[in-house]
Amino acid sequence: MTGITLALSKGRIFEETMPLLEAAGIRPLEDPESSRKLIIPTERADVRVLIVRATDVPTYVQHGAADLGVAGRDVLLEHGGDGLVQPLDLQIARCRMMVACAEGFDYASAVRSGARLRVATKYVSIAREHFAAKGVHVDLIKLYGSMELAPLVGLADVIVDLVSTGGTLKANKLVAVEEVMPISSRLVVNRAALKLRRAEIDPIIQCFAGALAPA
Ligand code: ATP
Ligand code: MG
Repeated sequence: MTGITLALSKGRIFEETMPLLEAAGIRPLEDPESSRKLIIPTERADVRVLIVRATDVPTYVQHGAADLGVAGRDVLLEHGGDGLVQPLDLQIARCRMMVACAEGFDYASAVRSGARLRVATKYVSIAREHFAAKGVHVDLIKLYGSMELAPLVGLADVIVDLVSTGGTLKANKLVAVEEVMPISSRLVVNRAALKLRRAEIDPIIQCFAGALAPA
């Protein structure tokens, strides 16, 4: 019996994963929002939670530092998914990956013109695939945040970013012009751990599955 380690990020994902953890009898003993601890024990002596950056969850699980984790489809596509099994779409942290531009920008004409489109984004792989599938030539500009700024100051023609309410776009006079894909978070499991310790890990997957809102 080695115990189960679960990698989660703070904020939205942690909060929305809580009810699923409860279903598996996993109640964290501290709140990551107020605690500075990065390893949080739970009411189950055999289960602990690691608090990591959202983009780092697949890395911890891939290398076996965590057995399971919860990560956005965006993060998983950028990571590549090596060494991971994705048994469940948890339907949490839902939003949409969108192309957006300044209010006055004629996106349809820009795409039709065949000229290279300058695209700023944190999601370089997703953006590259999206525009390649459309046959649009792009110059990708990697950013780490505040993407909304790029079209406003001439760094890019468009951005590819996550949108939920559209409030941030609106506040910056940007408009969403195309959906790239819907996004939600998935349960990820270390492939080797699932094979070698299925008896320990499977019941947790089943509890999560049973706690999902009926489709
Ligand atoms: P930070 O905001 O600290 O830079 P992050 O952007 O990596 O970190 P979060 O903003 O907590 O982390 O997002 C974590 C995951 O939640 C994302 O990978 C995505 O799948 C999802 N997400 C991001 N923004 C939204 C949103 N506005 N609405 C719903 N889900 C979102
Ligand atoms: Mg964020």
